[in-house]
Amino acid sequence: MHEFTYKKGILHCEDIPLTDIVREHPTPFYLYSYGTLMDHFQKMREAFRELDPLICFSMKSNSNLSICKILVNAGAGLDVVSGGELYKALKVGCPTERIVYASVGKTAEEIKEAIQRDILFFNVESVPELIMIDTIAGRMGRKARVAIRVNPDIKPGTHEYITTGTKEKKFGVDFKVAEDIFDSANKYPNVALKGIHLHIGSQITETAPFVSAIKKVLDFIESNNIEIEWLNIGGGLGIVYDKEKPTTAHEFAAEVIPLVKNKPFKLILEPGRFIIGNSGILVCKVVYVKTGASGKKFAIVDAGMNDLLRPSLYRAYHEIRPVVERKAESYKYDVVGPICESGDYLALGRELPEILSGDYLAVMGAGAYGFTMASNYNSRPRPAELLVMNGEVRVIRAAETYRDLVRGEKVLNELK
Ligand SMILES: *Cc1c(COP(=O)(O)O)cnc(C)c1O
Repeated sequence: MHEFTYKKGILHCEDIPLTDIVREHPTPFYLYSYGTLMDHFQKMREAFRELDPLICFSMKSNSNLSICKILVNAGAGLDVVSGGELYKALKVGCPTERIVYASVGKTAEEIKEAIQRDILFFNVESVPELIMIDTIAGRMGRKARVAIRVNPDIKPGTHEYITTGTKEKKFGVDFKVAEDIFDSANKYPNVALKGIHLHIGSQITETAPFVSAIKKVLDFIESNNIEIEWLNIGGGLGIVYDKEKPTTAHEFAAEVIPLVKNKPFKLILEPGRFIIGNSGILVCKVVYVKTGASGKKFAIVDAGMNDLLRPSLYRAYHEIRPVVERKAESYKYDVVGPICESGDYLALGRELPEILSGDYLAVMGAGAYGFTMASNYNSRPRPAELLVMNGEVRVIRAAETYRDLVRGEKVLNELK
């Protein structure tokens, strides 16, 4: 469910026609719906109400300050994966007892900062990292809280690049290593082993892989008599991009709650895509329409892989909708960007009513891993981010300018 719908043939965000928005704001831009965002967050919270879990929004899916602030105000915590995300989490005033920190490569500096800030815990991904945290905490005269990220070796049936919980992936530690860590906790005097973390991948549309993974972890906890305060089951819930039928928050909760209720630990969830994925779109303008030598039609738009990388990186499907519906014959189009790469496309072979230059198109489901993966490739300023809230369009990140492109760069004096 989302609030990007046609009314009288014009695509709206909530009650605002996109035809009005493109008049005020140059394309390309990301556009988010506050109503949709809140709705998805509340759905997750409602589904798990009886356990009252801590829901830590995964900042890597969308780290815009306003988006994060909205969720923090609504009671969410934040799941961070870098010093930069921790900085942004603090910037929006997220209470530090609601911040968890994963990443296989936390540096000494990042660890120190997080201990200073007294975050809820680190999701630790290796023994060397645990030793590093213990050493740094010791030096600081502190005790650092950690959860051990286990790799349950479960295939979630999603894209290879967003599969994280199988044994050939770099994430977490296997059960044997986790067992050794809990058995020899006294080796890490400056660390408090507070929890277990798992995150098996992203855009997972079925409940079964989550259930298998959680069961494996619960078996592990029971057979080793491990005492923890927190079980963090990660994120990864899939959304509709195309014809997927993803498990709903309620179906997911209905299977997960029986496994984890009446346990001596609290639950943490780390959804990203589920909350923001369908709450945002990328709006672009058709610059040219051309027919290639093979007879194929290309709609060349003013947004490219630098703005939305998912199609190029994962061959991800994003629905393309014309901002103004046209009753015309349909053709197959490759919707491509201006970037000098053959992999620069938003959609391939997509059947759409005739497209003309000057038309506006909406790339749906672009709220998660959209702007956060944007780059300046081809020296293109990154796009603006807009939010529709309370019937108004607000800029929550200005489009970059050419000046932004050279910030921090210089021509050396001897070259002048
Ligand atoms: C990416 C990530 C998430 C969020 O994944 P979604 O598929 O967006 O829900 C949660 N936890 C960890 C550790 C992650 O790396």
